[in-house]
Amino acid sequence: MLEIKDLHASVEGKEILKGLNLKVNAGEIHAVMGPNGAGKSTLANIVAGKEDYEVTKGEILLEGEDIEELAPEERAHKGVFMSFQYPVEIPGVTVTNFMKTAINETRKAQGLEEMPAKDMLKKIREKSELLEIDRKFLSRSLNEGFSGGEKKRNEIFQMAMMEPKLAILDETDSGLDIDALRIVANGVNRLKSEDNAIVVITHYQRLLDHIVPDYVHVLYDGKIVKSGTKELALELEEKGYDWIKEEINA
Ligand code: ADP
Ligand code: MG
Ligand code: MG
Repeated sequence: MLEIKDLHASVEGKEILKGLNLKVNAGEIHAVMGPNGAGKSTLANIVAGKEDYEVTKGEILLEGEDIEELAPEERAHKGVFMSFQYPVEIPGVTVTNFMKTAINETRKAQGLEEMPAKDMLKKIREKSELLEIDRKFLSRSLNEGFSGGEKKRNEIFQMAMMEPKLAILDETDSGLDIDALRIVANGVNRLKSEDNAIVVITHYQRLLDHIVPDYVHVLYDGKIVKSGTKELALELEEKGYDWIKEEINA
């Protein structure tokens, strides 16, 4: 699904990613962990195609196709979803209507007809039930006065509706509360399928109490320096990141 080869990237002339390799197959959940400033958000932003970052070397392949030159929208149309894609507040536009527009714009870009209203409603009902989102929430104005947990709920709902091939969730260091953790974990667990891949970026192990990743990677100083299974996350929880540093320098 996603293959990143020897990725080097800079921001404002400063090299942040320094030869990062990562391979994620369909049907897998990967967790990327690492200390503050390691380059986790940079990685997510670069895969999503955000400007500000200059890729100086390496390749980003989505289903074998190099997506490096594509704009963020084009990547989204190919099935890349990144959290905080739509963090804007839009008074007067409901969660549901925003979603309908996003889905139909994507379909249009893919050369498809608009989704018939009946199918759209069915999909909204299915996904909202799956994620235990109530009707009242769906008719609220997008992000207006949303709590942290509600923003997460909206984000996970967007992910469920878009049915991305590759979802990247950057759970930033700004502590998710228990409610938000549960929403994200529940969403990820329910949306996992043989046809998609999910990358969860997190500073904290506790999110992984609720999501069982197939692989855990440590991003340190712009590279993936260690990969393992869930046990690696537990080890990081227990020992912190310093031993990784020592291991690298040894
Ligand atoms: P993490 O998410 O692992 O905490 P980041 O990817 O946010 O790390 O940041 C990695 C490094 O890149 C940090 O030193 C940060 O200051 C720098 N950086 C990231 N984005 C920018 C930016 N837009 N402008 C300047 N520096 C940036
Ligand atoms: Mg940070
Ligand atoms: Mg970050």
